[in-house]
Amino acid sequence: MSDSIHFRDKALIPIWEKVQSGERLTLEDGVTLFGSQDILSIGKMAHTVQKARSGDAVYYVLNQKIEPTNICVLACKFCDFATKAGRPDAYEMTIHEILHKLTPDIHEVHITGGLHPDWEWEYYLEMLRQIKKNFPNIDIKAFTAVEVDFFAKKFKFSIEDVLIQLKEAGLRTMPGGGAEVFSERVRRLLFNNKIGAKTWFDVHKAAHKLGIPTNSTILYGHVETIEERVTHMLKLREAQDETGGFLTFIPLAFQPGDTGIKPPGQYTSAIEDLKMISVSRLMLDNFPHIKAYWVMLTEEVASIALNFGADDMDGTVGGEKIAHDAGAISPMTLAKDQIIRIIKDAGKIPVERDVYYNPLSLQSDKVIGKIPYLNSVPFYHHFEKRQFKIMPITPRRMGVLAEQGQIDVGLFSLADYLKQRDRLEMLPMCIATRDQVKSVMLFSNQGWKDLDGKTIGISDETATSVQLLRVLLEKKYGVKASLKRMHSGVNNFSEFDAVLLIGDEALRYNTVGLHGFELTYDLASEWYAWQQLPFVFAVWAVKQSMPDQQKAELKSIITTSLEKGENNFASISSLPAKRLGLKLGEAVEYLEGFNYRLGEREKQAIEVFEKLLSSLEVVKA
Ligand code: SF4
Repeated sequence: MSDSIHFRDKALIPIWEKVQSGERLTLEDGVTLFGSQDILSIGKMAHTVQKARSGDAVYYVLNQKIEPTNICVLACKFCDFATKAGRPDAYEMTIHEILHKLTPDIHEVHITGGLHPDWEWEYYLEMLRQIKKNFPNIDIKAFTAVEVDFFAKKFKFSIEDVLIQLKEAGLRTMPGGGAEVFSERVRRLLFNNKIGAKTWFDVHKAAHKLGIPTNSTILYGHVETIEERVTHMLKLREAQDETGGFLTFIPLAFQPGDTGIKPPGQYTSAIEDLKMISVSRLMLDNFPHIKAYWVMLTEEVASIALNFGADDMDGTVGGEKIAHDAGAISPMTLAKDQIIRIIKDAGKIPVERDVYYNPLSLQSDKVIGKIPYLNSVPFYHHFEKRQFKIMPITPRRMGVLAEQGQIDVGLFSLADYLKQRDRLEMLPMCIATRDQVKSVMLFSNQGWKDLDGKTIGISDETATSVQLLRVLLEKKYGVKASLKRMHSGVNNFSEFDAVLLIGDEALRYNTVGLHGFELTYDLASEWYAWQQLPFVFAVWAVKQSMPDQQKAELKSIITTSLEKGENNFASISSLPAKRLGLKLGEAVEYLEGFNYRLGEREKQAIEVFEKLLSSLEVVKA
């Protein structure tokens, strides 16, 4: 994080020093940030953090909102959406009407609504089943913690049972609304009958345990204090430390409407909204994404927010009613082209995503793929991107986008390079192990031979390691297991006999152990003990069609960056080490275990691996 900031408010300097050294911000720091008028410095700090995490990527999704009914047993003070049965504005949608609102081109449906007094449990399950059946490409994000808690009480299930049944019916992730602000004082004032922070966290943590990632929100700009806002963020940060299951944080600006809480038309100011985004990015250091929800912010403010800490634009949001009933002044739907234009105008890469934030396509040229793991930091720490844009992306997804011609240069997974070598040109740099790797790990309850016929959960991120695992299982140990892809984000590992994890996740669990699994195998050690060779996990490559001069320039940038990085493992790994909970010495030792240059032994290892791979049955992995 090298951007220099000229602080007008000197009280922000110690906060920036903390951020730069990876020290966590406190309640007092959050209050200082909200109290400061130096919005440009706050925004710049947040943008620097955003770039370190997300590079130039800004995510959006083609989505549709469905609010199946506005009839609700509650009457929260700030809610202009809910009504009672029999009133002229009350509505109820049938499953047929819901299906009618969906089209196959969207990737996410977002379902939330009123707490209906009479609907049966089966109606909700059938709604999800029918969506999955009729639109297999649409992932379902549905039901807030308030709704889940309502279902549990009404239908006499535990919260876990509700979630298990919804997951079986097709639920993939959950929205984050419901608790508004985690403050008992505000709850009593504005939504006395609604769940408080404890139940909200119980539901979300239960979902994470079951492998259902969730989102989180804050409703701000009504009666909450600054301390309550910051405390809300700290509670979320603590829960994320525990489960890692939150995908994004969405500050929702309060829409006064006819609620009587604030005079109609008295919206939060653009400065307040931007500050909220920036402070969220700075406080929530363990959240992957911060969303600029244009429906409430307006598209103009959302667009500026992309340089104030937000890396997520939500999406096209067809059919939104809740915010608009409360007076949101944004258009009801934003077309895909318009979202892309807004993101490009902010100087970012528009990244169309799925419900788990996996990139599906990029709308940008000159993109460098960056593997976001500690082992590739030596390449990227001093990287001069020049006219290129940086896209942090897991190895498997980088391969998929490269196949669509959307990545120009990157550290490609070896398996993807081998598949695409007619389009890619290899540069003489790589990520190769010497003997062990520590971050491509099989966690198991069975020895290798006993894995025959068992089910192994495979990280969504891997392209090469999964092939190495197959080679080891079938060629070294003579067994065949069933490999099942997990989704990105949290998973329920207990569903599997063994799991293959890679990157920082594997490194962390290798240090602390993975609950429920007694044995840990390092795949590079297994390979080395068998072949007496290093293993090459990734190689640098550029598009063959790129002009020679540009290829040469890139090669020189990568070489220079690597040389600087290799000379300074301690300083380049100190921040990532803190984030991963590693001691600095452990991080340095980890990096020293790699060879970053493609020598003769590495080339020989690639040849041996390719030969073994070609003798395996072709399967989609
Ligand atoms: S906020 Fe939700 S629970 Fe409260 S009245 Fe509105 S729809 Fe019902």
